[in-house]
Amino acid sequence: NSMQTINEGSAEILCKQGHVFYNPVQQFNRDLSISVISTYNRLFRAGESKGETGEGERDAWKPGVKSENGLRILEALSATGLRSIRYAKEIPGVKEIIANDLSKSAVESIRENVIHNKVEDLIVPNQADATTLMYLSAPPEKRFDVIDLDPYGCPNKFLDGAVQSIKDGGLLLVTATDMAVLAGNTPEACFVKYGSVPLKTKACHEMALRILLRCIEGHANRYGKYIEPLLSISADFYVRVFVRVFYGPIVCKRSLCKQAMIYQCTGCETFTLQPLGTSKPVEKNPKLTKYGLPTGPTVNTHCMHCNHRHHLGGPIWSAPIHNQSFVNELLAAVQREPLTQLVTNRRIVGKLSVISEELPDVPLYYSLDKLCSVLRLEIIPVLKFRSALLHAGYEVSYSHACKNSIKTNAPPEVLWDILRCW
Ligand code: SAM
Repeated sequence: NSMQTINEGSAEILCKQGHVFYNPVQQFNRDLSISVISTYNRLFRAGESKGETGEGERDAWKPGVKSENGLRILEALSATGLRSIRYAKEIPGVKEIIANDLSKSAVESIRENVIHNKVEDLIVPNQADATTLMYLSAPPEKRFDVIDLDPYGCPNKFLDGAVQSIKDGGLLLVTATDMAVLAGNTPEACFVKYGSVPLKTKACHEMALRILLRCIEGHANRYGKYIEPLLSISADFYVRVFVRVFYGPIVCKRSLCKQAMIYQCTGCETFTLQPLGTSKPVEKNPKLTKYGLPTGPTVNTHCMHCNHRHHLGGPIWSAPIHNQSFVNELLAAVQREPLTQLVTNRRIVGKLSVISEELPDVPLYYSLDKLCSVLRLEIIPVLKFRSALLHAGYEVSYSHACKNSIKTNAPPEVLWDILRCW
């Protein structure tokens, strides 16, 4: 078997051809993660460790140099070790990275690559089941500042261990690549895996993010913890969320108010959010199953705009999916000091710019193409439609998750009125 070299960022990875997992498309994901962890470290932790250690430590606050009070990072599913090696060489203020994988050959490859990249003092290769490793790391003195979960497909089975083995205020990074499930192709599978019913809608990518966030919050709540999303991204074939995890049983009681069900019309796709913890009347005398519930996935309420039935989806995370001031700091950092060889830098700046303008308090969005097709109108230029909404006194933004998206606080009847008069 011949060896192949892969260069990404400041890492050079050796792998036997066709042997261990390397996905070049995920470079965007790795680049972005480096920037997020660095910014998190600077904003939320740098003060702590610099305060304790003074000048000497500040000198060591460089990428590739071990920092005694720096971050302890767990990459629970590491494959070639590429991600961990880049974290070690590109993130300032790291103490230790555990690069873990279940597969023996993957861990052999991590060992070789760690030596090849001369980061032995920063990275500890480890062969274990990620779940077991995280459960064993639950005692407070063993917890991590940062945990990165980047599995194939669904991350659900790793979440319970992750929320327990992360420090208070720690940063959890989670990728989910099972987009078909999250975006509504198989609602039963999504309910089994994530505990939510997805809807087939133009807003399915943001809905996927909100299903994943709600799922993580649910796991955290079991241990008196809760999440605070810093950034949530839909890109290519996956979603990726960056959340802080805090301990706070009293705040957990507010978790209910951060979640909602969605009624979506089967005719015109108008959606209405129903926050959990409040009641919405279901039509009188609906046909019931033997468990006393309305039959099928539709509730017996009808859309006020076109009188078709509603589909019921959710629950989803309905609170903000980004922390706008963190996003602004991150964007400024990426523009100020683009990481060397950051091929995807422009794409990151583009995504973050759109995200920094997303309306934080408006979950989901409409797609202008879909709205026009419902009324059999020719496609209207997005800018004109946006300015009509602005003139009517409403706020409007794009969503980074969909081209031609309309995220607005205007009620649906206003959208339909504007389109009818077009
Ligand atoms: N994070 C890597 C990167 O950015 O290059 C890619 C990780 S790859 C998508 C998923 C890895 O998870 C595989 O190498 C697989 O061997 C490993 N894996 C699967 N189940 C695991 C488990 N229960 N514990 C630890 N590793 C596991």
